[in-house]
Amino acid sequence: MRFLLSLFAILAAFLLLRSLLEPLVKAIVAWLAPAPPPPSQTPGEPRTAGELKKDPVCGTFVSPEVAVTQTFHGQVIHFCSQKCRDEYARKA
Ligand SMILES: [Zn+2]
Repeated sequence: MRFLLSLFAILAAFLLLRSLLEPLVKAIVAWLAPAPPPPSQTPGEPRTAGELKKDPVCGTFVSPEVAVTQTFHGQVIHFCSQKCRDEYARKA
């Protein structure tokens, strides 16, 4: 009888310990696991219209990525087309 009681006590202690450890183990796993990346709150650098360059010949605003560029007197000038660049080069 005493043996059964101690066995029951051990079993109860084991179950109690497990129920106590389970949240602890989960917490440790959560702590060890890499935290999920925080939601991107940083405002991404917007490609604003401020990046547009003015074509000095026809006055068109062009994106530097697609503009025809030419360096005149050490200054990069952006043109909407090769035609405008040629015209500017003729005057320069
Ligand atoms: Zn132009």
